[in-house]
Amino acid sequence: VKPAPFDYCAPTSVDAAVAALTEAGEGGKVLAGGQSLVPMLALRLARFDLLVDLNRIDELRGVRLDDGRVRVGAMTRQHDVGADPIVRASAPLLALATPLIGHFQIRNRGSIGGSVAHADPAAEYPAVVLALDGELDATGPAGTRRIAAADFFTGTWTTALADDEILTALRFPVWGPSSGFAVEEVARRHGDFAIVGAACGVQLDGAAIVRASIALFGVASTPVRAGNVEAALVGRELEQLDLAEVGRSACDGLHPPDDLHASSALRTTMASAVTTRALTRAIEEARRG
Ligand SMILES: Cc1cc2nc3c(=O)[nH]c(=O)nc-3n(C[C@H](O)[C@H](O)[C@H](O)COP(=O)(O)OP(=O)(O)OC[C@H]3O[C@@H](n4cnc5c(N)ncnc54)[C@H](O)[C@@H]3O)c2cc1C
Repeated sequence: VKPAPFDYCAPTSVDAAVAALTEAGEGGKVLAGGQSLVPMLALRLARFDLLVDLNRIDELRGVRLDDGRVRVGAMTRQHDVGADPIVRASAPLLALATPLIGHFQIRNRGSIGGSVAHADPAAEYPAVVLALDGELDATGPAGTRRIAAADFFTGTWTTALADDEILTALRFPVWGPSSGFAVEEVARRHGDFAIVGAACGVQLDGAAIVRASIALFGVASTPVRAGNVEAALVGRELEQLDLAEVGRSACDGLHPPDDLHASSALRTTMASAVTTRALTRAIEEARRG
């Protein structure tokens, strides 16, 4: 199967890419690693007049600490995100999620910005961005605006990005000491998209939880934070916790989709189990300091 014909440009700066997108209007589309877009074009599930390739824009690549946050350029390849020493030390949840994304060929080419902009409800990075209260820099003709993760994901494959905006960078707060993180998911085979998953972070002060974050994926059209459960965990002593019950509570009120992979009820049961597992591992890691 071949894509419908399209024009192509490969600018070397963000300004030039934004100008090309703006001129193309609704017919323009950004090409990053191509791991989601190219199959959609090839299957003719989508067609565009102009592809604006970001692969030659050096300023979109790389990881650095910036104003106390981890800043990751949108075109940083998923493999490079997972292997980066700053990410591993200061935003380890991203590194833990990376090996769960597809296969190494996909991670070598796919970018973090592409994964987040694509906003697949079963994808790992969007849930991690939400769990970590990440912020997303969107650059368009009027300049750059910063979007909180909580406002970014608006539905299946849709985000707050406008047609003429490029996701240029992602920013992640650095958690304090005695923090632990984990991602757990259920997939039919290694490398498949998850059926459901949970990305969690916990920070301890002695034996008490002082910070908790839980984001579920594969349970709705966007990743979902279990905000009420997080708030209820803060201040609790570890020995008082029934983590199986916490996992169940995190899924209260969810109505996951029914499809050929799993019924809604099975997804709810699995989401509760992966939340319990992820929290258990995150707490173990936080206890190790
Ligand atoms: C077999 C297979 C298995 C996979 N398994 C998983 C998995 O388990 N988990 C998972 O999370 N993903 C999985 N993926 C998807 C993979 O992670 C993709 O790399 C990712 O979704 C898209 O990243 P990309 O850089 O390839 O973006 P592209 O495919 O180039 O673009 C995807 C979309 O995002 C837009 N976009 C890209 N970058 C930007 C930007 N900077 N600003 C604005 N818009 C942008 C594009 O216009 C397009 O609409 C899988 C893919 C395949 C082919």
